[in-house]
Amino acid sequence: MSGFLNSIGRLRAPKRSPTTTPTGQTGFFDPLPSPGLEFTSPPTTTASSTLSGGPKPLYLCQPFIKAALVKGSFKTIVTPPKYVDVNEWVAINLFDFYHNLNHFYGALTDFCTLQNCPTMSAGPTLNFLWPDQNQRLVSLPAPTYIDFVMSWLQKLLDDENVFPTKSGRDFPSSFAYTAKHIYKHLFRIFAHLYHAHFEQIVHLSVEAHFNSLFAHFLAFGKEFDLLVVKDLMTPQGMGQGVSELGERWREMGILES
Ligand SMILES: [Zn+2]
Repeated sequence: MSGFLNSIGRLRAPKRSPTTTPTGQTGFFDPLPSPGLEFTSPPTTTASSTLSGGPKPLYLCQPFIKAALVKGSFKTIVTPPKYVDVNEWVAINLFDFYHNLNHFYGALTDFCTLQNCPTMSAGPTLNFLWPDQNQRLVSLPAPTYIDFVMSWLQKLLDDENVFPTKSGRDFPSSFAYTAKHIYKHLFRIFAHLYHAHFEQIVHLSVEAHFNSLFAHFLAFGKEFDLLVVKDLMTPQGMGQGVSELGERWREMGILES
């Protein structure tokens, strides 16, 4: 459990608090909505906008698509070590994905602003919506959406009933459900950062790190059935954004199909 505890110690609070949103809305992240029910993404532009005809996203272009620190199979790093409980292995990795993604987001907060990113966009016609207190789907600026997710997630990771750290305490029976839910929201943050901020990621010279983290995230999600990308997209969003990146990586053999 020491790695798990170390991960806890490394966690950082998001840079901004959801209580400082311009609308004053709070409490959006209680309780857990059902996975898969709130992924709606109505097109924000007219039907003529580009599903396939727009400029190719930078992250799908050479050499960026191949930039990666990890060489070889991801299978070896997603497989649980011997004698490690699967739930514990998933928990450790969720901590690390959260922690690492929060680092990248922290480096991009100067660019991911209310003005630059008024919606949680992830493709030409793809926006993720957030369920409010009444489970109505609302559009939020990306930094607000991401801060809500990160704060909700930090709270969840600190909850001893969800992520037990003390010996003798078992993971709750709902842990797989919770893990899938966390995965879905982390995926959306990756999707937004790739879509809206990849140029800045390249300027920071961290595209190889970011690709490696995302490829690891996809490989781990596949191994433990945490992520079904097609379930995260609407028909408008299929083939867009990072779902296309994952497909290309499979074709290139970077990810297993
Ligand atoms: Zn943004």
